[in-house]
Amino acid sequence: MRAARFHDRKDIRIEDIDEPQLKPGHVAIDVAWCGICGTDLHEYLEGPIFVPAHGHPHPLSGESAPVTMGHEFSGTVTEVAGDVDDLSPGQKVVVEPYILGDDVEVKPGVDYQLSPNMNFIGLGGRGGGLSEKIVVERRWVHPIADHVALDHAALIEPLAVGHHAFIRSGAKAGDVAIVGGAGPIGLLTSAVLKAEGLTVFVSELSEARKDKARETGVADEVFDPREVDVAAEVRSRTEGRGADVGFECSSVPVVLDMLLDAVRPAGTIVNVSIWGHKPEVDMPKLVLKEIALLGTIGYANDHRRVIELVEQGKIDLGPFITGRIGLDGLVSEGFDQLINNNEEHVKILVNPRA
Ligand SMILES: [Zn+2]
Repeated sequence: MRAARFHDRKDIRIEDIDEPQLKPGHVAIDVAWCGICGTDLHEYLEGPIFVPAHGHPHPLSGESAPVTMGHEFSGTVTEVAGDVDDLSPGQKVVVEPYILGDDVEVKPGVDYQLSPNMNFIGLGGRGGGLSEKIVVERRWVHPIADHVALDHAALIEPLAVGHHAFIRSGAKAGDVAIVGGAGPIGLLTSAVLKAEGLTVFVSELSEARKDKARETGVADEVFDPREVDVAAEVRSRTEGRGADVGFECSSVPVVLDMLLDAVRPAGTIVNVSIWGHKPEVDMPKLVLKEIALLGTIGYANDHRRVIELVEQGKIDLGPFITGRIGLDGLVSEGFDQLINNNEEHVKILVNPRA
């Protein structure tokens, strides 16, 4: 079968590899669509980061580069192991793409994303969504209703990142949120917040992204920090209080400053972005307002609720798909587009069979 494999920085190849073999406790899936993620771009430009470098196998997967890429994917079950009795061929599914130890419990209340040596399918080994087929442990396979389109379903993984940030924030329906940055994660986080009944303000500079936040209806209002004082605008809409929760989705220091200004005293800021550098944080502001600044990575027990929101039509993922390409175009029409033309794109999907 064909697969996109990461060999090294700036070296991703479309290759013919052996099909994965079904094992006990596993499910075989024909991949339908796989999204390209910012994490993939970082691997391509600056990696290997999550990918275990050649000759340095990951302690759980035992694999090192070259590895198949792609962790945001949907597909259809083709075969299940004899000991899997709750999924059947033909079922539409998405994958929660973790590589975790066999001893890690995966159940509500457990922060399994924080277990030692955590990595992701499509980065740390065990195949990936940028190939025609994959075999995945049953516990990571989530069925989706037949009426959900498989291209939309490929966005459930990044949507789960936004949902996890929402859960971390402790926010509830009726609360006011300010989201800093309307890139893919900022937009999808906003979509979750809106679906969960919050008022959502978005801060963003790029015209294309401002338009996207408005067109998709995920933002009640969009503020451009070059034009207005975002924190003042938020306060003026909350009787001077400020937002209950803020979400950092840009890894830009002035955005973090704005959030510290825009949230209310005793408010919460959740950092969703991956920082490549250490920012200066206005600690006096954090102290005097008793702001809780929280980290978040991946997701845990978020997929079920996210799938429900999509199945119920409370989140329409279609408008976030800005490109559909085949596997051969991965670098030229996918990675290069997202690197050189990133404001015009939210999510580019790859059909590994095309
Ligand atoms: Zn991702």
